[in-house]
Amino acid sequence: MNILIVDDDLANCQLIKHLLVDFSEPDIVDNGDKAVKAFLEAHRNKKPYDIIFLDIMMPEKDGHQVLQEIREWEEKNLEYGKGEAKIVMVSALDSKDHILSSFKEGCEFYLVKPISMSKVMNVMSEMGY
Ligand SMILES: [Mg+2]
Repeated sequence: MNILIVDDDLANCQLIKHLLVDFSEPDIVDNGDKAVKAFLEAHRNKKPYDIIFLDIMMPEKDGHQVLQEIREWEEKNLEYGKGEAKIVMVSALDSKDHILSSFKEGCEFYLVKPISMSKVMNVMSEMGY
């Protein structure tokens, strides 16, 4: 299973990575630009990410933009329903607006920080892992 963790707070990346140790060795990037690049590179290498944990508040390009760019690329380039990444937003923002717009933009899950073992394990089991 291929997993990408995106957060400008590297401690948070390390925490999620640690919680996923039984599943995978996730890749980590610390901004939105790098996230889109890593996503495209993974497709070029025919090893697309199955799951992307995506922070919202980041410099340059925020998580909403990254989510929209990924979904647009998938819509243009993938057969419908095949190979799309599962996207888990991970944010300190817990307002209804951010949560609703993330789901409209196409995320599957929304976790509010602080991250915990049970939050991460819940989404993994919801995804069938
Ligand atoms: Mg952040």
